[in-house]
Amino acid sequence: MRPSIIHKSPAGLPVAPNLADYQSERERFSWATARAELPRLPGGGLNIADCAVTRHARGPNRDQVAFRFLSEQTSHELTYGDLDAQTNRFANVLAGLGVGRDDVVFVLAGRLPELYLAVLGSLKNGTPVSPLFSAFGPEPIATRLNAGSGTVLVTTTSLYLKKVAKICDQVPSLRHVLVVPDEPDEPLPPGTRDLTGLLAGASDVFTTVATQPEDLALLHFTSGTTGMPKGAMHVHDAVVTHWVTGRDALDLHPGDIFWCTADPGWVTGTSYGIIAPLLHGVTSIVDEAEFDAERWYAILSEQQVTVWYTAPTAIRMLMKAGPELAAARPRPDLRFVASVGEPLNPEAVWWGQEVLGLPIHDNWWQTETGGIMLANTPAFDILPGSMGRPLPGVDAAIVVRGAAGLELAGEDTEGELVLRSGWPGMFRGYLNDPERYARCFSGEWYLTGDLALRDAGGYYWFVGRADDVIKSAGHLIGPFEVESVLMEHPGVAEAGVIGKPDELAGELVKAFVSLKQGYQASDELRLEILGHARRRLGAAVAPKEIAFLDALPRTRSGKIMRRLLKARELGLPEGDTSTLEGGG
Ligand code: AMP
Repeated sequence: MRPSIIHKSPAGLPVAPNLADYQSERERFSWATARAELPRLPGGGLNIADCAVTRHARGPNRDQVAFRFLSEQTSHELTYGDLDAQTNRFANVLAGLGVGRDDVVFVLAGRLPELYLAVLGSLKNGTPVSPLFSAFGPEPIATRLNAGSGTVLVTTTSLYLKKVAKICDQVPSLRHVLVVPDEPDEPLPPGTRDLTGLLAGASDVFTTVATQPEDLALLHFTSGTTGMPKGAMHVHDAVVTHWVTGRDALDLHPGDIFWCTADPGWVTGTSYGIIAPLLHGVTSIVDEAEFDAERWYAILSEQQVTVWYTAPTAIRMLMKAGPELAAARPRPDLRFVASVGEPLNPEAVWWGQEVLGLPIHDNWWQTETGGIMLANTPAFDILPGSMGRPLPGVDAAIVVRGAAGLELAGEDTEGELVLRSGWPGMFRGYLNDPERYARCFSGEWYLTGDLALRDAGGYYWFVGRADDVIKSAGHLIGPFEVESVLMEHPGVAEAGVIGKPDELAGELVKAFVSLKQGYQASDELRLEILGHARRRLGAAVAPKEIAFLDALPRTRSGKIMRRLLKARELGLPEGDTSTLEGGG
């Protein structure tokens, strides 16, 4: 049997880890000191893009490669100097269109250079920006654009034609659609402007707008059990959390070649696919292509990746592809591997140790926290299956509901994971929903919605979600958003959506529907409803399975009992059904 611990020893490491002594660093740490390590704008402002790009472009890292973009065939590099000039151009394009601090830029694109220019250029212009996942269908795109009152959308011609054209007139706030042509000389869709041409014609000199630390910078949409997606608002001060966590949790060092496999449409791909590596002046690999085991091993090897941040679903897919592929591509440069987004099974941590020659460092955070909060770090032993310990600057606890409300729980007690408010990367609100934001706090504690426990060594262990959200291939999916689209099918009377456990993706989206009178359950109708959901929601969000039921279990107040649907699906005890309509 395998031991239950992976011992770490600083001796023999190729570089000394940034975080070497966990306890003393926790005692010494202050956010104010960390903030003072980052540059301020003249007059005292703080801007994420200035810290991430401009200061390197003005210093010795100017000619260092900031991004190496890989596509199926080609590779394209931008140095810090290039990135500064190109993001200045983007900021000038916005300024020229009269887009300012009260606007919001949305980006819907694959992992193209323009996505990165748009995010950083918008920040320079003081315009909040929200990258959307390009696999979303028209419905989630329209919902998010409207929730954020998007005024500018940056996208590609093909995504525009496939997804945006049909929802443009549902988004009254949208003033400018800037498209990146997929092919040169492609005709421009009516109502759009050619971003490539606009960038080429813009000046590469720009003075970053003097944003303040508490000014809105990034909007990331996340899902809850009820209602439509919530827009988590992040401010420029979040850069302090990106800086510290890039150092302590990802161990970024000068000269590193870093690969974060997340898409910027999800918070990991922005905080760690764009901002944190730039803050540390390292080179980031960006791969435009989708997962492919052989390709990924080739990238790790040929690009000489030193630090790799990936996700459990990808690791499980690599495990499935077999050790031979891993053995065929030596990775002498790889030094540190981390993972986030879903539970990482102990076998995966051991697989890393045995097949990659390095253990995988699981870490935990969520859209609302803006950056990594709990982590396995280079500074302490790994207990495979644990999410690690709170980083310096982060206070975590477990709470349980007692007679007097929430109480702090002791060791090995399952309860809700909470974090003491006040770290710079914490979200400052949910867009247009102050009440929902207020409900996330109990006194000084932020309630994460995750169930976990803490052991005697201060390690945290994930237990599950306290709500009904679904994690599929690392993507958080709100059942309500899916149910709403299913209900728009003329045959669907009721819909209830759950996460069904899946070996590879963690969970997959499964829908239960009951039909309106006049409709008969059939495989044909199932396919038709699946097709409807895919077209509207996109493949990443739509259900993979649909089952027909005569009626869905509801509470007496009329809410569909997803918990019961899930228990029945899994053949588990049904638990308390006293609130079931017609039951208990
Ligand atoms: P998101 O806001 O989309 O980043 O999703 C955050 C949620 O993903 C968390 O609240 C957890 O439920 C889950 N999650 C993130 N990291 C981990 C992890 N290391 N282990 C288990 N669950 C995780």
